[in-house]
Amino acid sequence: MTTNDSWHLLKFGGTSVSTRQNWNNIASIIKRKRAKGKSVFVVHSAVSAVSNRLEALIELAQQGEYHVAYKELVDIHQNLLADMELPSDLLAERYSYLKRLIDGIHLLGEVSDRVRALVMSQGELWSTTIGQTYLSRVFEENVSWLDAREYLYARESRNMDYLCASCHFERDENLLRDVSDTSIVITQGFIANTSDEETVLLGRGGSDTSAAYFAAKIEAERLEIWTDVPGIFTANPNQVASARLLKQLNYEEAQEMASAGAKVLHPRAIRPAQISQIPVYIRSTIDPDIDGTVISSIENSWGMVKAITAKEHITLISMESQGMWQQAGFLADIFAIFKQHNVSVDLVSTSETNITVSLDSLTQVVSEKQLKGLVQELSQMCRVNVMHNCSAVSIVGKNVRAILHKIAPAFSIFETYKVYLLSQAASDLNLTFVIDDEHSSKVISALHELLITNNPNSEILGPTAKELKQTESVSQAKKWWQDKKDTIEVCLAERDSAYIYHLDSVRQNIQNLQSISAIDRVFFAVKSNNNRDVLQTAYDAGVGFETVSSGEVNHILNLFPSIDKSRIFFTPNFADKREYDEILQKGIRLTLDSTYPLKHWPEIFEGKEIFLRVDPNIGKGHHENVRTAGATSKFGIPIYELEDLQPIIEKHNVTVVGLHAHAGSGILTNEHWAEHARLLAETASMFPGVKYLNLGGGFGIKERAQQTELTMSQIDHSLQEVKAEFPQYALWIEPGRYISANIGVLVSKVTQVKQKQNYYYVGLNTGMNSLMRPALYGSFHNIVNLTRLYAEKEHLATVVGPICESTDKLGVEIPFPETKEGDLILIENAGAYGRVMATQYNMRQPAEEVCI
Ligand SMILES: *Cc1c(COP(=O)(O)O)cnc(C)c1O
Repeated sequence: MTTNDSWHLLKFGGTSVSTRQNWNNIASIIKRKRAKGKSVFVVHSAVSAVSNRLEALIELAQQGEYHVAYKELVDIHQNLLADMELPSDLLAERYSYLKRLIDGIHLLGEVSDRVRALVMSQGELWSTTIGQTYLSRVFEENVSWLDAREYLYARESRNMDYLCASCHFERDENLLRDVSDTSIVITQGFIANTSDEETVLLGRGGSDTSAAYFAAKIEAERLEIWTDVPGIFTANPNQVASARLLKQLNYEEAQEMASAGAKVLHPRAIRPAQISQIPVYIRSTIDPDIDGTVISSIENSWGMVKAITAKEHITLISMESQGMWQQAGFLADIFAIFKQHNVSVDLVSTSETNITVSLDSLTQVVSEKQLKGLVQELSQMCRVNVMHNCSAVSIVGKNVRAILHKIAPAFSIFETYKVYLLSQAASDLNLTFVIDDEHSSKVISALHELLITNNPNSEILGPTAKELKQTESVSQAKKWWQDKKDTIEVCLAERDSAYIYHLDSVRQNIQNLQSISAIDRVFFAVKSNNNRDVLQTAYDAGVGFETVSSGEVNHILNLFPSIDKSRIFFTPNFADKREYDEILQKGIRLTLDSTYPLKHWPEIFEGKEIFLRVDPNIGKGHHENVRTAGATSKFGIPIYELEDLQPIIEKHNVTVVGLHAHAGSGILTNEHWAEHARLLAETASMFPGVKYLNLGGGFGIKERAQQTELTMSQIDHSLQEVKAEFPQYALWIEPGRYISANIGVLVSKVTQVKQKQNYYYVGLNTGMNSLMRPALYGSFHNIVNLTRLYAEKEHLATVVGPICESTDKLGVEIPFPETKEGDLILIENAGAYGRVMATQYNMRQPAEEVCI
């Protein structure tokens, strides 16, 4: 039995179902979902180009010879069956059904929309039959095939549109019951039914819409649209090289972008998901590890431009008339003429003497003849001018009106380019300019540069398409442990498990950070790794130490008794009074992340210099929003509370010498620290004694093949800009993970292997007692079989430890070779937050540390 909240609805397009290789990709995506306990509902299209061929076949059948085209269609599927080693007669009956339909069309010499829909629906019926048969062979569990037409019913109207219907999508008890005893379901996109059991289509791009309907009907936990691009970008990446992946959008913005020309998702697919509050994930079958774009009801980016989109090759009609517009009914007469000629209008702008409209290019094709008739009739009422080859360039983002002042500088580019029409959506989601086609790519690039590249928001913007492509080659880069395989084997000869640290990598990582010339001081976060040799290496490289407890402070003081105290920084959270006092007595700088200590124990701060830790709330908007946004975090002082401290500070002669902000871990957006720097610099004016801005840690490392590494030169560039504006402040950082994560691997011997249905368990000598991060945060570590590094990966392994706890898994769905007892398994990036969090749970000693 499955529960409906664990359904993931996955939609695949034609390309994804056209080769065996691509079907294997689909299978491994489903495998991962199953390994996480999710049930999978797959909606997919016909094999690529098949819908177009069916359409052509219908035309040919009406005119005469159609057997060749029919045979080609059959051959495409027979070749696929052969390639996938499926029975060659799998589709035989379905072929002959199509043959009878088109023979009928040929006989009549014409075709109704009803029959057309029936013919067009065959492509999906065939491809899903292939898919179900193939997946049944891959998976040991039952893969059920549904006829979408038994569940998707069109909304009926007097003029039923058989080729572009829309459907009901309320929660569907029948469907839920029918799928309740299976975990993998496959069905067709694009097709649905009427209450009289007549097949209807959902229009071009209808598979997205089908997927959204089914997701709503089963109340899926999420809807994933798998495509060949990694998500929705801030502009077309083929046109704007600096276009960035949008990590999040809300439904309205996604709808607006899809309607304004962004091609990734069909605009009609968004509403069902929005009404049922199902998040939509856009993901790439080529790079399944990239997180892509998530569309949900999230409202975290008030008044930020999300994208510059364009509809090209559109037609404008401008109508001039002296003073006629004020006459009652004149506009109605004009639009009645459009209606009469069956031409629908997209954008409209009016002035006293002119009305300009653009023709809707998304849903209609207006023929020359149609246009001529329209113009002729309009000309009897006003002077008409038709302009072809225009582009409607839109600035999309929620609340664009509220940020008009910010985007004002962008308007200066229109000094050079003539704007024919300017329109602002009543929904306040877009601002659209119509210009000549030939200028559109220049204008798009310029607007993108001004509004997005220069106003980055790290919560929302991911990497550029180019960076995503580059990761491919970076991921091939050699790891230090590949060169040290022999040394590692020697270390493991006398132990069952070990943390192995590579000190040269510590030096290298520190050097990378020291290359950020805008940074005046680097502190290493001791909590990430407190190994003596690692700390000694960091000490020798000249960095300071960021500490979170008196224990850590004393550890550093013991190791380096003569250390300059200014090289230690103390950032406690909810520590007690004695701890603050002890550290202050030692002359070590500290940051306060609450107003409580100053308000309740001002005496211990008398005459001291302190830092204040601000809750940065980046991306959550400023001022009014700030009051609630950070409330769920236990760290930091909200900016609006800082003022309360002024009287106490003055009274007790305390000097605020620095502001501090640290927002979390694993950040891979280069601009993040510049955002902190700017926020702190702008806040610092409140405190005349401020000299230092500590921008925190959180420097992420590449953990998955598809992530993009931080680029130090870009971090530097963005910080230099802030520094140019606020030269009076020294900038500090305090990374942990960046320095210590990739220096360490956890290596452990295989104890046993176990296979249970699709699950391949590899058991190690140590588990969550040594490395808690996967159990604690679900974090990902790449895992390899060091003994069989180059053997073929035949399994998706779940790598587990010997601890009696079901969360004792170091990795799930890891591609793995056939593995034997005694093999050495290596877990990457285990140097940070690894050994420092180890426990003796189950009375098993965690892996010990070895430095090489
Ligand atoms: C943990 C911590 C860091 C280090 O974080 P990383 O993600 O390891 O870079 C820096 N500053 C403070 C205040 C911390 O608590």
